Amino acid sequence: NLYDLFASRFPADRDDLFIETETGARYSYADLEAWSGKFAGLLARLGVVPGDRVAVQVEKSAEAIFLYLACLRAGAAYLPLNTAYQQAEIEYFLGDAEPRVVVCRPGTEGWVGEAAAKAKTPHVLTLGQQADGTLVEQAKNLPSDFATVPRAKDDLGAILYTSGTTGRSKGAMLTHWNLASNALTLHKTWAFRPGDVLLHALPIFHTHGLFVATNCVLLNGSAMIFLPKFDADQVVRLLPRATVMMGVPTFYVRLLGHAGFTPELTAHMRLFIAGSAPLLAETFNQFRERTGHTILERYGMTETGMLTSNPYEGDRLAGSCGKPLADVEVRIADENGNALAVGETGIIEVRGPNVFKGYWRMPEKTAAEIRADGFFITGDVGRIDEKGYVWISGRAKDLIISGGFNVYPKEVEEEIDQMDGVEESAVIGVPHPDFGEGVVAVVARKIGGQPPAGEEIAARLKTRLAAYKLPKHVHIVDELPRNTMGKVQKNVLRDQYKDSFA
Ligand code: ATP
Ligand code: MG
Repeated sequence: NLYDLFASRFPADRDDLFIETETGARYSYADLEAWSGKFAGLLARLGVVPGDRVAVQVEKSAEAIFLYLACLRAGAAYLPLNTAYQQAEIEYFLGDAEPRVVVCRPGTEGWVGEAAAKAKTPHVLTLGQQADGTLVEQAKNLPSDFATVPRAKDDLGAILYTSGTTGRSKGAMLTHWNLASNALTLHKTWAFRPGDVLLHALPIFHTHGLFVATNCVLLNGSAMIFLPKFDADQVVRLLPRATVMMGVPTFYVRLLGHAGFTPELTAHMRLFIAGSAPLLAETFNQFRERTGHTILERYGMTETGMLTSNPYEGDRLAGSCGKPLADVEVRIADENGNALAVGETGIIEVRGPNVFKGYWRMPEKTAAEIRADGFFITGDVGRIDEKGYVWISGRAKDLIISGGFNVYPKEVEEEIDQMDGVEESAVIGVPHPDFGEGVVAVVARKIGGQPPAGEEIAARLKTRLAAYKLPKHVHIVDELPRNTMGKVQKNVLRDQYKDSFA
């Protein structure tokens, strides 16, 4: 059981701090043990048996983490859901997962209850951010000790839905050993040490905030500072108390835009880590100039946990997501799964103890994406250089095929991003009557900046890129659409500009 692994690393003095919130509320490891025991006891009383699912759509709180741990202890699969999801979406997820219990925010039990009734989920509980709601009420007088249910390595610990960047979210089945092996590897790779304090401003319904960040802290038996969401003022206020920060690239962009984000403020920091979306070279460079710290970029996904990381000691390269983790194999392959040579661009495939068991109730999709030799087809495109660094050039689904030629959006985006007044850009393919797909660039202006006009951008690219890669339309906008994990939503843009060549 993953919980037993964590518990074996808890501090000898259980009164040591585990979570401190932005309001100053403090939770110790003793609180963690007691509350996860009470919650696990309640789940068991509600009839949750090993293998059952527990769906959770709540705001970020220490109690939500205790509930995650309670699910592990009770042998249930923890199934967190994005707080943005509305009734129709919750109906889909509950219908798909058929959980035994759903825990939702106070005030939403009405419509969540309706969805639960349709899915035949017998129990609906609530959990608020102030430890309010029926979960805590019903559990608080239960015994705090609970005999953690033994689990095998291959037993399900969580079902985590993907971010839905390229289509409908899929439920990834993650086993106890998937989660444990990845946490152990990351804990070592990033040199976690006694006394580390993690500044945690990520959501906890996604692999980054839940497994990467929280599991490292649990294995380290140390503390984290919990912010309900990213807020640059709060980060600047609390950074002096932290030693490690993890974030999506937009966190770092916003910190660079904050006057209080100074070299003095960051001098004591041990490590800044970025992932979930590409970190622009400009952000990487500006961060280093401003603070003297080199952001460590890593790459991973819901289905696999983390896969590659820039080195803790050694060169962290702008634009690369680093080298495969110690227990992860990465290969670049063609469409049939044949490995390509060093330096060649192709589909990224991965294998290791971290790779999930399959998509929940999607056996065909699972079979289509996991090869006979165990390699998982990530759907990302990239290459590996002579030194072993992995360079991601985008998602296979974002690859543009125009007039029979492959256009890698990133190559065009990097050219546009260098122009004055440009914050960032997204290059997409939309239906074109002659070419199949036509290249369109959507360019976000820098705040207070003035990028060249659309025709001027296209004209300047002419001397830099082959004609088939040139955008036929360039749109200047204030910002690119992003989801909660800071990922640019190219499907939204493709839809918005789908009639460009109609
Ligand atoms: P869906 O699979 O539902 O379309 P998603 O792939 O965005 O959504 P996640 O599992 O949250 O869902 O994200 C994993 C993806 O995020 C990776 O496949 C990759 O495309 C991207 N990603 C993660 N880290 C990085 C990184 N450092 N650089 C570039 N891309 C990254
Ligand atoms: Mg994905």
